[in-house]
Amino acid sequence: MNLEIVEKIENFIGGAFLAPTLGEYIPNINPATGQEYSKTPNSTKEDVDLAVAAAKKAFPDWKNTSLDTRFRLMNRVADLIEEYAPQLVLAESIDNGKPYTLAEKVDIPRAADNFRFFATALMHTSTDAHQMSENVMHYTVKQALGVVACISPWNLPLYLFTWKIAPALATGNCVVAKPSEVTPMTAYLLAKIVKEAGFPDGVLNIIHGTGPDCGSELVKHPDVKAISFTGSTRAGREIAGIAAKDFKKYSLELGGKNPNIIFEDCDWEKMLKTTVHSSFSNQGQICLCGSRILIQSSIYEKFKKDFIAAAAKIKPMDPLNPKAKMGAIVSEAHYNKILNAINTAKEEGGLILLGGKASKLEGKHANGYFIEPTIIEGLDAKCKTNQEEIFGPVVTLQTFETEEEALALANDSTYGLSATLWTNDLQRAHRLAHKIEAGMIWVNTWLLRDLRTPFGGIKNSGVGREGGWYAMDFFTEEKNITIPF
Ligand code: NAD
Repeated sequence: MNLEIVEKIENFIGGAFLAPTLGEYIPNINPATGQEYSKTPNSTKEDVDLAVAAAKKAFPDWKNTSLDTRFRLMNRVADLIEEYAPQLVLAESIDNGKPYTLAEKVDIPRAADNFRFFATALMHTSTDAHQMSENVMHYTVKQALGVVACISPWNLPLYLFTWKIAPALATGNCVVAKPSEVTPMTAYLLAKIVKEAGFPDGVLNIIHGTGPDCGSELVKHPDVKAISFTGSTRAGREIAGIAAKDFKKYSLELGGKNPNIIFEDCDWEKMLKTTVHSSFSNQGQICLCGSRILIQSSIYEKFKKDFIAAAAKIKPMDPLNPKAKMGAIVSEAHYNKILNAINTAKEEGGLILLGGKASKLEGKHANGYFIEPTIIEGLDAKCKTNQEEIFGPVVTLQTFETEEEALALANDSTYGLSATLWTNDLQRAHRLAHKIEAGMIWVNTWLLRDLRTPFGGIKNSGVGREGGWYAMDFFTEEKNITIPF
């Protein structure tokens, strides 16, 4: 199988690789050079209709396919992702601007894990039975929904794409999936893998295009029964509005403004190393990054000094350089948005302690979208900078005296995705973890994931949970059957 980067990406519909019906394409830019390097289909309603029709046609057979066959096919996809990892890693790094080593250690292995995890999960499903009396029995079945839509963002392209697709397929649904138009390449390569693995035509369809022209049409389509979406709160709100009118199921994983709370009794070295990581990994473009760092006043000056010194060692560089710890921002639009947010922070009275500007590289990377790790202090909790998601390598520092103040600051947000807590006081860790308004709390660690646990947020960070049985439940409908005999 040839799994090279291509100049023209195609849709994958009913097992065939197709050009968009209207023949229009969007330029696909390498963010490390600012140059177009491929083209993405600008799919429209016509392509959505074709993809949904192909999925609908495949559904009756797929839902009746034995668990063992589904398990083997999905495991085969995982095997092929591992076998072709070098090509996928390269494609992900070029398409997204993330360091090659990050795609190699995290993104691509996790894409294989997603398929393997849900392939295994489907072999362990069971349903309930309730005996009402000696001669009345209720039993519950879980049925696939039909055609479902999986829409994913650009920050962890193949990782999040497969995180949605795998449980949908495992539970017997047929899928129309749309990756971000900003990072389409590995989704296209996944289509080739799925074909090679021997998946029946139409079970998984992958179409490319923008949110308004393609994503929105997919959400509206009357034959789409559920939408699993990860992306911005803005798009999530639009999707919820459309889906609710037709009583479609939806699961929304949205933005965040996560607090990282540091108490004076923490394990200093571990906290510092992890905080650098949780602030700037993937150029700060992970929904779980801790962008509001809250520090107990007694350790503020020491923290500031050590944190700045550690962060200053991170230099944005060519993502393909094996030494790169920080690569390029994903797109010109997002790069400008982050630089504008830094300007807003200055206007609000923020003091830039580190970075605060674009980083200019030389040679073929002179027009790439690089921003220095940025640390800002002196802003209050209510300002725009501390309330709005920036989603870049930008963190703010705020101080607190007491646990109550830390809690108030942490919860002073319209978002509620995750929080990190650094303390060696066990009682306090439990107390705060229960009171912080977020879907996921990490105590003395960050982004330690177990695929069985519920993943998702509250408030403007989303609705529903992904992961383990939560995802398997989302993609099925329960039906209760009662038999007196
Ligand atoms: P985005 O909302 O612009 O786009 C996400 C996807 O939705 C893309 O495929 C896009 O084409 C599509 N889309 C956009 N508008 C749509 C619409 N109206 N209808 C249907 N589809 C539409 O988000 P993005 O800029 O790609 O990603 C960054 C955002 O994603 C950040 O806010 C980040 O916090 C969030 N995110 C959340 C999680 C999580 O698990 N909570 C994980 C990663 C990223």
